[in-house]
Amino acid sequence: MESLACVNLDCDQYGQKGGTNLIVRKVYGKDKIRYLRCRCCQQEFSERKNTALWNSKISEAKAVSIAEHLAEGCHIKSTARLVKVDPSTVRRLNQKVGRHGQQYHEQEVQDVAVTELQADERHGFAGSKEHPAWEAELMDPQSKFILAHVQGARDETLIRRLLEDGAARLHNRHAVALFTDGLAAYRTLFPEVYGYAYYPPRQGRRGPHPKARFRIPRTAAHVQIIKHQSGYRLKEIEIRYAHGSKKRIELALERLGYHVPNTSAIERRNGTARLMSAAQVRKTLAFAGRESTKEALGWWGMTVYNWCRPHRSLKRSLPEPVGKKSMNSGHQLWLSV
Ligand SMILES: [Zn+2]
Repeated sequence: MESLACVNLDCDQYGQKGGTNLIVRKVYGKDKIRYLRCRCCQQEFSERKNTALWNSKISEAKAVSIAEHLAEGCHIKSTARLVKVDPSTVRRLNQKVGRHGQQYHEQEVQDVAVTELQADERHGFAGSKEHPAWEAELMDPQSKFILAHVQGARDETLIRRLLEDGAARLHNRHAVALFTDGLAAYRTLFPEVYGYAYYPPRQGRRGPHPKARFRIPRTAAHVQIIKHQSGYRLKEIEIRYAHGSKKRIELALERLGYHVPNTSAIERRNGTARLMSAAQVRKTLAFAGRESTKEALGWWGMTVYNWCRPHRSLKRSLPEPVGKKSMNSGHQLWLSV
């Protein structure tokens, strides 16, 4: 029972793969899905439990095909036409793989040792052109790995969620060189999220205690790359050292092989992400009808980008080739969480 394990939280064998406790009770459906029993706790469950396909009767081949179409930027309805299923099936599976991708990210992306990050926001719509739905991301420019992904209106709350989510996944949040655009929220929030809090002593014995202040350690810095445009043309790029030392930024540039501070990696990712989510294609009316559809598409696209696609821009090749192969036969992503 290779990669399967008991799903009962109270069982001694919970999550233990490769044991001898699981037996096949029966197989069901066209796909011969196995219904299992754990001999340790006597619990019975489908082998699809805790996977993206749980509670769906769709065949694995069709599900994979739908998920692949979605990650190639096909719209819900065009996917339904190509795979020859009802749009509601695609919509349902989109929600499942989106949620599954989010859970997989939550489970896997912890305690990450990254010291440089680029942040950016992508414009999009959900429902109508009047309802903007942005995607904001934090990326490690060295590995091109997306550390954090949030969606919503482009305001301080979105940037706070992005920065805090990213910080919570880092091994050391106080050792980050952050490259962003000119959005003011990055500058105001950086010390609070990536600095150290301290409380200045109260003046005398009366009155309220002073609020927390923030100190930026030598290992952290924030630089903003502000593009000044006249019309559609780029006029000037302003580099603003917002927090921390210029020396820390220079160290980051050296590590990354850059000459000047920039957000090129995440900007490249913006282009890729727009190709991977039908709801993010620019200058079309092909946006998602529902916010939940767009959210799931965003998460699924990011999951495929992070875990399934080979990256030509990576300088060092991986010990084992990954890519399409890992999506079809890897099963790691597809069938666990
Ligand atoms: Zn068990």
